[in-house]
Amino acid sequence: MLGPWRANLSGYSRLLLARLFPRDYSRELARTAQCPPLLGIETTNICNADCVFCAYQYMERPKIIMDFDLYKKVIQDYAQCGGRNVGLAATVGDPLLDPRLLDRIAYGKSQGMQGFGFFTNGILLHKFDLHTLLTSGLGALHISLAGFDRETYHRTYRVDIYHRVIENVIRLRRLRAAGLPVEFAMRYDNWSGKIKPDDLLGAMRMRPVPRKKQPCSMLWFGATVHADGVFTVCGCRDLDGTSELALGNLKQHSLAELWTSERLQRIRREFTTRLPDICVDCAQYSPVSIIGSWHLTLISQIRPAEVCPLHA
Ligand code: SF4
Ligand code: SF4
Repeated sequence: MLGPWRANLSGYSRLLLARLFPRDYSRELARTAQCPPLLGIETTNICNADCVFCAYQYMERPKIIMDFDLYKKVIQDYAQCGGRNVGLAATVGDPLLDPRLLDRIAYGKSQGMQGFGFFTNGILLHKFDLHTLLTSGLGALHISLAGFDRETYHRTYRVDIYHRVIENVIRLRRLRAAGLPVEFAMRYDNWSGKIKPDDLLGAMRMRPVPRKKQPCSMLWFGATVHADGVFTVCGCRDLDGTSELALGNLKQHSLAELWTSERLQRIRREFTTRLPDICVDCAQYSPVSIIGSWHLTLISQIRPAEVCPLHA
């Protein structure tokens, strides 16, 4: 699911601003030392579409739904280090395919978590009671669509299900008196070189690959746990969790252990002199000097880490 046209436009302006007026957020970022300000949890990496612009088609890891006990461990780890903002829009996959989606939100809420927003292709929305879903604690629901006719949708998402998605959007619209905001994307990410211009259709264009003169903001805001427990600091583009940004598996390690590891500090320190391979051709890069008020709010919501009673 790619960023909307409006977000792309402001993204480029922000890149320009960062270049002209770089800001130093080191004091604010220091507050993330013990805990990620946002944790993406990929509850499933299974998708029921096969979009031409998405690297899902090249994913090599097994397609699974995250084990519920592992999910609970991830939430507990995150609560323990002081985190509270969870996103279910992770690397790939559609959260609506997870039969325990609502249980996961309920469990997360019971542990003091908030957020739980995600992107979906909307194909399975009719399987949910929309009122229950929207009042479950879900912070945001983004539906990704392509084109305004069956044929374009079919060619782009490679599933012939346009009518159902539109019906689902209409059902959703009926519940929302305020209407549904619409955003457009025309420039698409290359998924660190996996998606090529030839993969795109019609007016779709690739985003340019920017020069990387500062560490990427994802090293602070991209923390993600894959469905198999692999923890990567770029859930955005680390498709198989095999890059050097994947720091370990939460089945064997605690979140705090990986987040505070020397390895991550070194990746941040050396980013501009020794770019991780996955970052070299990445067009999704966003320099750390252009984080916005949303990022600062996430940082301000990190709680003091729970103190182990044995060490109190
Ligand atoms: S619906 Fe989302 S995860 Fe699935 S193939 Fe499309 S962009 Fe990728
Ligand atoms: S440059 Fe790209 S791959 Fe590297 S951390 Fe940033 S978004 Fe992720």
